[in-house]
Amino acid sequence: MIRKFKRVIPDNVNVIGLKSGDIKSLDIKCSSTKCSDDLHCFSRYMKSAEKKFGKIGVCYNCGNESIDWKRVHKNDVKDANYIFESLNKELIRKVFSTIIVEEKAIESAKKLSREELRKLVKKTLHTRIGKYNSYIDSRQTPLGKDDIVNYAQHATGTCCRECLEAWHNIPKEQELTNTQLEFCTDLTMIYIDEKISYLTK
Ligand SMILES: [Zn+2]
Ligand SMILES: [Zn+2]
Repeated sequence: MIRKFKRVIPDNVNVIGLKSGDIKSLDIKCSSTKCSDDLHCFSRYMKSAEKKFGKIGVCYNCGNESIDWKRVHKNDVKDANYIFESLNKELIRKVFSTIIVEEKAIESAKKLSREELRKLVKKTLHTRIGKYNSYIDSRQTPLGKDDIVNYAQHATGTCCRECLEAWHNIPKEQELTNTQLEFCTDLTMIYIDEKISYLTK
């Protein structure tokens, strides 16, 4: 039996570059941290983190305050490098940015032209996070498996409205505007472009 890890990942567990099967069994959560490896969680327990450390936007576990939220929250796709650099300081994002995407997911993505794929991504985002639904929020995007959009959403903080609010400063209650949806789609496509070209080299 593999232990289910929920919060703090033990030092001896490697969380970078795992296969998606391992992630499932390890049960890494959005709130998981491994602060000793500079992998934190900024998007959960924000209120208690603020109380505990007296600052906004810090890791709830260790108080790490390395994110320039003003810059990230500009949601400027031209600054995507910095946005990804910041996202990757959160454990769950880092896992999905370094994970080996299942071949099936790559294959089905490659069946589409880039334009078709982008359309599909936008449609998926619209369905999953266009409107806040408290009953399914945080559970609407599977952890990886055979759809590359799943991986991309977790890596970019567009997996649910809670992550979207924390990472991209879009209030949960607000229906996504087309501009916001375009931004999320662009970010997601940057991830997908990288994964696909990496594997077809
Ligand atoms: Zn931390
Ligand atoms: Zn999420």
